Amino acid sequence: MNKKLLIVSSDNSHKIAEIKSILKDLPITVLSKTEAGCGDIEVIEDGDTLEENATKKAVEIAKRANGIVIADDTGLFVDRLNGEPGVYSARYSGENATYISNNQKLLKKLEGVPLEDRTAKFKTIIAIVLEDKSVKLVSGECTGQIGFEPKGENGFGYDPLFIVDGYGKTFAELGEEIKNTISHRANALKELKKELKILLEDEYNENSNNK
Ligand code: IMP
Repeated sequence: MNKKLLIVSSDNSHKIAEIKSILKDLPITVLSKTEAGCGDIEVIEDGDTLEENATKKAVEIAKRANGIVIADDTGLFVDRLNGEPGVYSARYSGENATYISNNQKLLKKLEGVPLEDRTAKFKTIIAIVLEDKSVKLVSGECTGQIGFEPKGENGFGYDPLFIVDGYGKTFAELGEEIKNTISHRANALKELKKELKILLEDEYNENSNNK
């Protein structure tokens, strides 16, 4: 079977490595956006939903690149805050937001709220633009609670505050290896893999029927 090209709308080496690892048994070659010759494409993430942002990013790259293109968008949704920071997770505390200032803002907003009311989830959407330019969406979630103070040294973003359901520890305490098997992104990548398997099987069957 010919190998398919899968282009990721990112140059983040951790993200690319995670995608390569999860898809390693499929006949697929994974390229970053720069490796696919699209390094200059910058998409402004101004959508109102993760779905809109992920789709916009994948579609822009797919206009130029040949192959299957994927883009992901992630947000942290806190129930007590009506889903904040959600699609605005990266810039929750303003234009010059840092991971620390975002975490400080979140803690401030939840001041006085008891643990049982600090439920939250991470959600990742992956938009897949197929070679015929049709778009499919898959998603993954991970539920937990927002702690009272940052804990743990690993990860990034809201990891030090997010206490994962069933583990009683933050993502930052659990570390990358465990996180990458249970996280929202890992769950979305598992869904992506299912979609790609179906696609590859359909193509394989079509090719054999045409012989
Ligand atoms: P992105 O869509 O992957 O760029 O994520 C948007 C923002 O959500 C990031 O800037 C982080 O603040 C937050 N975020 C995304 N994924 C994670 C995660 O796995 N742990 C903690 N924070 C995350």
